[in-house]
Amino acid sequence: MADSNSDSDALPNKRQKIAHDDDKPIYDLERVVLMHAGSPVVQVPLLNFQTYAPMRKPDLRIEITEGETHRWKFYIDDVPGSTPEDAVKRWASWLIHFDLRAVMDGGPMDSDKLASALFQASYVLGESDYRDALIDAWMSWVQNGGPAGSLSTERLRRSGFVTYGLMGALILYHDAGAIAMEDNEDAHKSPYNDAICRKVRDLALISFAQPDRKPKDPLQMSDKEFCQKYHSHSPGNQPCYKTKSLPEQL
Ligand SMILES: [Zn+2]
Repeated sequence: MADSNSDSDALPNKRQKIAHDDDKPIYDLERVVLMHAGSPVVQVPLLNFQTYAPMRKPDLRIEITEGETHRWKFYIDDVPGSTPEDAVKRWASWLIHFDLRAVMDGGPMDSDKLASALFQASYVLGESDYRDALIDAWMSWVQNGGPAGSLSTERLRRSGFVTYGLMGALILYHDAGAIAMEDNEDAHKSPYNDAICRKVRDLALISFAQPDRKPKDPLQMSDKEFCQKYHSHSPGNQPCYKTKSLPEQL
């Protein structure tokens, strides 16, 4: 027994010795460098990246730099080149602070910033939690601090890309007259683009023909209902960033 213990004690020491003698020690910096068009833009703690960007985690590259006596390991995320650099910085703010006020640089949210960040989150970065948080921020923005259940039609009309389903349902309940304009002499004066107008008409037809499929007014939904209907959620059975519930438990 004594020999066996001494063997098992010796093994780790031996390994450590090999590491010191034959290799320079490697320090894992636990940082992810976001690379954009071949240049580093910003660093994010590895733990935050793993937690808040799980969809991109499998694509991380490991790089090791070597000095005279040590090596340093860090991780690289190659952000798609079509992402504007300011969008990369906004996303990094989200990964670091997990707070959209940081994403908006402390300034007010506005439709252009939100729409641009949403587009990048949805179609370039493919980041579900970030996208879901931006959708929620856009909902607050379009309500403009008004009473529960109300929204600013002016803000809704000024909104760029959000998602057709959500925009369509809000317009159906709160600005349907703007779509009906197209059917009379005010043709093509709708403040919404053709795709949104088509979506609202589709929802209206469904509501007429199959009332049980009529979408609920998004402003009347509970957090959980809204989460289930309009969030996309990270894959891999991750809880919703907001409700903290697994989507299947909603
Ligand atoms: Zn959710």
